[in-house]
Amino acid sequence: MAEIEYRLPQKRELVTSIPGPKSQSLAERRAQTVAAGVASSLPVFADELDGGVIKDVDGNQMVDLGSGIAVTSVGASNPKVVARVQDAVAKFTHTCFMVTPYEDYVAVGEKMAQLTPGSFDKRTALFTSGSEAVENAVKIARVRTKRQAVVVFDHAYHGRTNLTMAMTAKVMPYKQGFGPFANEVYRVPMSYPFRDPEGMTGTEAAKRALTMVEKQVGAENVAAVVIEPIQGEGGFIVPAEGFLPALSSWCRENGAVFVADEVQAGIARTGAWFASEHEGVEPDLVTFAKGIAGGMPLSGVVGRAEIMDAVHPGGLGGTYGGNPVACAAALGALEAIEEWDLVARAQEIEKVIREELGSVAESSPVVGDLRGRGAMIALEFVKPGTTEPNPDAAKQIAARCLEQGVAILTCGTYGNIVRLLPPLVIDMDLLRDALGVFAAAIQEVGA
Ligand SMILES: *Cc1c(COP(=O)(O)O)cnc(C)c1O
Repeated sequence: MAEIEYRLPQKRELVTSIPGPKSQSLAERRAQTVAAGVASSLPVFADELDGGVIKDVDGNQMVDLGSGIAVTSVGASNPKVVARVQDAVAKFTHTCFMVTPYEDYVAVGEKMAQLTPGSFDKRTALFTSGSEAVENAVKIARVRTKRQAVVVFDHAYHGRTNLTMAMTAKVMPYKQGFGPFANEVYRVPMSYPFRDPEGMTGTEAAKRALTMVEKQVGAENVAAVVIEPIQGEGGFIVPAEGFLPALSSWCRENGAVFVADEVQAGIARTGAWFASEHEGVEPDLVTFAKGIAGGMPLSGVVGRAEIMDAVHPGGLGGTYGGNPVACAAALGALEAIEEWDLVARAQEIEKVIREELGSVAESSPVVGDLRGRGAMIALEFVKPGTTEPNPDAAKQIAARCLEQGVAILTCGTYGNIVRLLPPLVIDMDLLRDALGVFAAAIQEVGA
């Protein structure tokens, strides 16, 4: 395993209570300034981040088990990203690719064509946010198929713009009061092994979903089936084996575009470059964002050339889409993933998490399920002896971790899931230390 060098000492160290006095005074200014609708999970303000450490303004060093929601996989100040950004930003900050093109945009497209599943001819378009990438995948699929219907799944998360809110399942907080939503979006059941009938296979779950599509939407009306190969915000739900291949085959047979929303699960996060690979699926289109550029805002759609190129010139774009500094950052981040073999590190992280949490997950009455792949692992909390969601347990555990300097995030339709998304460059001893705190918190709350 590659030796990774860090700027900050990779250790957990609290010098004040959480939040400390400086964070508290910033929180007061924030409350007078920042819109209440923009909430934060952590009460501390960031000063510096490196590797697996978040250093706050009071000098506390927290362990980062969230990566800013799966974004800073290579770390939040990766030297390769920093160097490329500094170099790029000193040359030009912006031209608008739709006005004056530049090489790094093309280079990112070449990398994505090479890294995504499938050896067919591909094209790429770059944007700024994950939501925008998903919207554009739908636009492209509609032009290509001359159809309108978009099929999405229970527990899905696809973003916060109007179309992607319609595609997102959970109403609170993402959709509440923000309608009316875009039409021609149809939701069908996800394969959710922990909550599906005992023994339901991926093929059966796909049949359940696709029969609904055929009866309620009509196969000939479907432009795209859009799915996260491992769901993110919805609770790190890994569909049963066979589910994704069945959906992909159905799309091929029925002339619909199969879109894998890899915004959260993609870019080495799950111990493969893309989560679709775990099931040998070659999506027609892949959306990517979060992990691509070491924290700089960049997203995109990559996929079959004949689908991508169906759109007329000028039909895709945006002022900032594929910003040159963000593209430079992406090339640095992708280089870091390759050189340090972060795909293998994601697999190693899964091993460490399962080692450290396996027995507490087995024995604690409040843990219903431990699931996920690579550095995308979650625990689902339940009321003892049932499968009834237990969001209070998840919240209490996250709060206990925070008090002790371990930053973890919750998620899920029922809010009862704690998700682990450490930077892929996290030091393994630091990871074990943080997981020890987490395991103790589970034990205490479950007792
Ligand atoms: C985060 C996320 C999005 C939205 O990305 P933004 O950059 O927040 O717009 C879309 N799809 C998935 C799967 C995500 O996890």
